[in-house]
Amino acid sequence: MGRVGRGLAVVGDRSAIEWTEATWNPVVGCASVSPGCDNCYAARDTAGRLKRVPVYSGLAEKPEGEPARFTGEVRCLPDRLDQPLRWQRPRHIFVNSMSDLFHPDVPEEYIGRVFEVMALADKHTFQILTKRPQRMSEQVERFYDAWCWPESGCPVADALGNVWLGASIERDPYCFRADHVRRTQAAVRFLSLEPLLGPLPSLDLTDIDWVIVGGESGPGARPMDPEWIRDIRDRCVEAGVAFFFKQWGQWVPYETESPPFHRSQHGNLIDEHHLPADLVENEPTGRWWWPDLDSDAIYRNVGKKAAGRLLDGRTWSEMPRSLASTHDKEAEDLGGAAALRVHRRAR
Ligand code: SF4
Repeated sequence: MGRVGRGLAVVGDRSAIEWTEATWNPVVGCASVSPGCDNCYAARDTAGRLKRVPVYSGLAEKPEGEPARFTGEVRCLPDRLDQPLRWQRPRHIFVNSMSDLFHPDVPEEYIGRVFEVMALADKHTFQILTKRPQRMSEQVERFYDAWCWPESGCPVADALGNVWLGASIERDPYCFRADHVRRTQAAVRFLSLEPLLGPLPSLDLTDIDWVIVGGESGPGARPMDPEWIRDIRDRCVEAGVAFFFKQWGQWVPYETESPPFHRSQHGNLIDEHHLPADLVENEPTGRWWWPDLDSDAIYRNVGKKAAGRLLDGRTWSEMPRSLASTHDKEAEDLGGAAALRVHRRAR
């Protein structure tokens, strides 16, 4: 799955994640695939507060002085498959907040059972996020091939009108994941750019309905350059793609005009006189900026809550229209939310 933020990630029928209402974890355990996994909160929780819970035991480890990491083992939990069928109130459900449904060791037959439950529980809306969208695309294609017949139509296509499918992208070399998403049949195709770790000049928004951007939080969190976000926001606005800015994460850029700050050659603010103790320090050079960033913006480590989710003075909470009407916690901020486009292959 993708980086989504910390919340009530394990059980179930409520969630603190800003863009969903509940989580459902019929699979647990995972393996890292790219830099966005480096500080995976699911691995941290699995190796930490959940390590004595039997279904999570042994799935992640926490080496001394290093981030927690998954061991690579995944466990399917068939006794959780019927959870959404028992939830009475219709809700938006994030599937597998503690794993990746399309991990190569999750059997195809089991993924099929998850999709059958989503088809049966059609009063809910399901949101699936993966860092392995090629398998997702191929798998969904096979479901449609197996379950649709010319003489009887494709009832599964109607049933899966409640399933949103997306991928996580953190750096430009992983923008190919969006290509797999746009090839996948889904009621909503979406991208989670969290933790955003660099600019995404190669990102193609064609046939993408919804984009979420978020910074990293928790131990070892890396900061996010505001210019990366503005570029993505502007391209979403231009393309009519719903844009949701979820959070700055642990770090917030120090953007104040008050002295003794002054503009650097990159246009960012630098304090050469009174550096707060919590600014990032690039020790090898003795200068004060985050070494992974191109710009010389300076950042404060204030924590996720204090950093908030304002971008240039406002919140961005756009969602595909079907969700905005029922769930958006800040509907007044919508301001031209992109229309929901339903992609179904004609058969
Ligand atoms: S794919 Fe998702 S769940 Fe798996 S290690 Fe990476 S961030 Fe964690």
